[in-house]
Amino acid sequence: MTFRTRFAPSPTGPLHLGHAYSALLAHDMAVAAGGLLFLRIDDIDQSRSRATWEAQILDDLRWLGLTWPEPVWRQSHRVPRYREALEILWDQGLLYSCTCSRADIRAAASAPQEGAPLHGPDGIVYPGTCRPLSTPKGPLPDTALRLDISKALARLTDPFLFNETGAGPAGETGHILPQEMVTHVGDVALARPGMGASYHLSIVVDDAEQDITHVIRGQDLFAATQIHVLLQRLLNLPTPIYHHHRLIRDEAGKRLAKRDDARSLATYRDAGKTPSDIRAMVWL
Ligand code: GLU
Ligand code: ZN
Repeated sequence: MTFRTRFAPSPTGPLHLGHAYSALLAHDMAVAAGGLLFLRIDDIDQSRSRATWEAQILDDLRWLGLTWPEPVWRQSHRVPRYREALEILWDQGLLYSCTCSRADIRAAASAPQEGAPLHGPDGIVYPGTCRPLSTPKGPLPDTALRLDISKALARLTDPFLFNETGAGPAGETGHILPQEMVTHVGDVALARPGMGASYHLSIVVDDAEQDITHVIRGQDLFAATQIHVLLQRLLNLPTPIYHHHRLIRDEAGKRLAKRDDARSLATYRDAGKTPSDIRAMVWL
C-alpha cells in the first residue's frame, strides 16, 4: 500500500503558521514513507472562497518547498460526485430536507426548556425541528439535507472505531461512542442550499476517490472525524488512518485563526524569514 496523504486548505484566507505546520508534517511523513502528498482545494463553500487566496496559498506552499502531483483537485468542480453520494444516502432513507435558518436553529436550541444550546463539531446540535416521522418522498428543492444520525447509527454492524496514530485534543483515540454522537453531534447537514455538499460529505468522497491512506490534520478536526467515519461506513468507503496533530498557538495559548494576519506566512516572508525559519518556529 503506497502512503498517500493530502493537504486540503480552504481558500478563505491566508495560510498561517498552523497551516504551514500541517502541510510540512504531511510532507515529511509522506517523504519518510516513500509516499505522495496531494494538494486539494477545499472550495466547496463558494460564498467564502476567493481565487486570490487560492493563488497565494499555492505560492506560499511552493515557497515552503512543497511539490504535489497535478492536477490539483478543486471541490467546486466535483459537485456531481457529491450529489451521487447524497443520492445513495437519500435512497437508504437516511436524509431529510431542513428548511431552518441559522436563527431558527439557534432559537429552537435555546428554548427555555432546552437550556444553553449544545455545540458540536458541526455547530449547534440540530434540535430536530424538521426531522420527519416517516421516510420523506423526495428532497424539497434547494434545502439543506440532514443525516438522521440515530437511524444512521442503527445501520452499523461492525465495531465503530478508527485507527488514530496521533491523538485528539484530550488524548482521545479512535473509539467512537454512538450514543454521544446522537447527543453531541446530532443530525449534521450534508448539503446546504447553494452549496451542493457540506465539508463533511465532500472530503469523505474526495479522500476515498483519491485513495488517501493517511489523513494528517489538526486536532481541531478530531471531533469531526466520527462523522467522517460514519459516512464512510454508510457509503461503503474505506476508512483511512488518521493522524491528528497538535495545534500551533499564539503567545496567549489561543489557536491561530484565518484572521490572524499578523502570523500569515506572507507576513513572515515579507519580513525576510526563510522556510527553515518557519520550520523552527513550529518546532519541526
Ligand atoms: N479544509 C479544511 C480546513 O482547512 C481541512 C479539511 C481536512 O483536512 O479534512 O480546515
Ligand atoms: Zn430544519
